[in-house]
Amino acid sequence: MSATLPDLLIRADWMILGGGRAPLPDVTVTVEHGLVSSVTSGPTPAPAAAKRLIDAGNAVLMPGFVDPHTHIASNMLLRGLLDDLAGTEQFTWLERMWSIKLNVDHETLYWASLAGLVEMAKAGITCFNEHFDGYAVRPQARALQRLPLRATLGFGFADGAETGLYADLADWSFKALEDWDAAIEGVEHDGDRVRLALSPHAPYSTSPALWRGTRELASERGLTIHTHVAEGLREVDYLRTYHGRPSTVAWLEEMGFLGPDVTAAHCSVTDATDRQALARHGVKVAHCPISNARGASGRMDLRGMWEAGVHVGLATDGPAGHNTLDMFQEMKFAAITHKQATDDPTFLTTRQVLDLATRDAAVAMHRPELGRIEVGAPADLAVVSLAGAHVQPMYDVEAALVYSSRADDVTHTIVGGRVLVDNGEVVGLDQAEITARFRESALALARRSL
Ligand SMILES: [Zn+2]
Repeated sequence: MSATLPDLLIRADWMILGGGRAPLPDVTVTVEHGLVSSVTSGPTPAPAAAKRLIDAGNAVLMPGFVDPHTHIASNMLLRGLLDDLAGTEQFTWLERMWSIKLNVDHETLYWASLAGLVEMAKAGITCFNEHFDGYAVRPQARALQRLPLRATLGFGFADGAETGLYADLADWSFKALEDWDAAIEGVEHDGDRVRLALSPHAPYSTSPALWRGTRELASERGLTIHTHVAEGLREVDYLRTYHGRPSTVAWLEEMGFLGPDVTAAHCSVTDATDRQALARHGVKVAHCPISNARGASGRMDLRGMWEAGVHVGLATDGPAGHNTLDMFQEMKFAAITHKQATDDPTFLTTRQVLDLATRDAAVAMHRPELGRIEVGAPADLAVVSLAGAHVQPMYDVEAALVYSSRADDVTHTIVGGRVLVDNGEVVGLDQAEITARFRESALALARRSL
């Protein structure tokens, strides 16, 4: 009697395993019950049959990208809007963005979310950490039932603090902290593929009472926290002016807020003392180099972070700060900008950059089981074609992925063994309809808001 066939079998000329390991040639990977069940390479006899076969050929099979700091739904609606303002004045830009977010309705958010999920899936992103900076969670949770990527959805809290930014959220934020079960009622999540988290907005929009309330709830319920920390000099000025402190990190540490359950996005303005504090408390940092460069909001000292022992993953910050959801762009920019900043072309190898965007990014959003290919790990995978003219002659597969490949080279995206993108097409969804509905609702929103 023959053994049961694996659910899925993928063959490819190359594979990135993740975790600092060298790429393997000529690979076969099988998947059963959502997990990787075998990995073979080279002349080793490989399984030949499965219920579904993907013979990728001249391509690389890699762990799906993980984006540990992003804003999909609302920021899909802000892509390419007021871009020149973003480079000049952070708080003015946020105020203008807020005037749009105040007008957003659920249906618009739903189509924006679905469009964002399509873009991510087609770019090989399999898991993301959503920061809802002041808008409804439910439309995105609904969209995630139609296109089932993995996600942690962070409920956004703010009360305006001393700047008044996002002050409209004050009542809702405190109510959610008081009665979390009521706040999450009806939000589809399973504690595994879709998880819920707490997302205080930022030091300049969130008062100490809200930070402390978030910490208490997180510790009590075992929820993770996802927030913005030390993003730019405006924040430093704010801390000095209103709290007499030179550093957000020190301020949050004094409050007892920091901990290993925190993902701190940006940390683009830190000193050695801050970095030691982040390491001491096991805070995970989501590094957004494109967003920081574009918004002139600081430049993270990656070497300093690593030397201090801080865990760092690479993130996009969503389409308002990045304009795309493309981790290939993020990888290339990260490599280039850190080489330039350190005046050291040997700093940051392509293997390290790939880990920053997969395995390290997964740890940065508290999902350490993801971001690598090995037997028993969740089968969250991407297949990237190496056939494009822009990749030839392909001497080095890691260099190809970091410096030459593009999101539209992704042919297959698989989450938990389920093929969500098949030969470049999103399975079971009408992409043309999603794009049209998204565009129509976004333009209507801009017309009534600006
Ligand atoms: Zn952000």
